[in-house]
Amino acid sequence: MKKVIFLDRDGVINKDPGGWTEHSYVTTLDQLIFLQGSIEAVKKLYDAGYDIVVISNQAGISKGHYTVERLEEINSKMINALEKAGARLKKTYYCVHQTNDNCDCRKPKTGLFDKAKRELGIEIAGNFFVGDGKMDVEAGKKAGLRTILVLSGKSSMKDVMAWQIKPDFVFKDLKEAVQFILKGRET
Ligand SMILES: [Mg+2]
Repeated sequence: MKKVIFLDRDGVINKDPGGWTEHSYVTTLDQLIFLQGSIEAVKKLYDAGYDIVVISNQAGISKGHYTVERLEEINSKMINALEKAGARLKKTYYCVHQTNDNCDCRKPKTGLFDKAKRELGIEIAGNFFVGDGKMDVEAGKKAGLRTILVLSGKSSMKDVMAWQIKPDFVFKDLKEAVQFILKGRET
């Protein structure tokens, strides 16, 4: 069975847009700023034989801050930067709804993980999901994934202490998380 890893986007691969962009979403190409070491970290996963699947909430679309076409352009920028570095994503999945839309795909719901499983024929249970927020941890747990929280985005260790549902592991950033994953440590 192929090894699979799920990654959140904002705060994991690129700088979380909270607080410094107009709407706290990545709405333009130049707001997609890669975090230090993240591209290389994705490449390491790719070279190690992982299928890499990105799962990201983008409620700013439902809120009217940007369009699906713009999201696709931003997605292409990410994919191109990764390909230039020699890494390929298996697929990117976006939820474009907001909480009120009552969709089944917005994390902490697991719709996009279920979709990935169906479409890509990949295994969910036991694999890792790396995210930077509470909703990532909750979605990952619900989906049967092992959760890694990285502190390179919207959450601090202090935040984590207050959460009911805690991540299985916490690392500084994707680079450190990948080092851990590739070492194959289980606990
Ligand atoms: Mg995030």
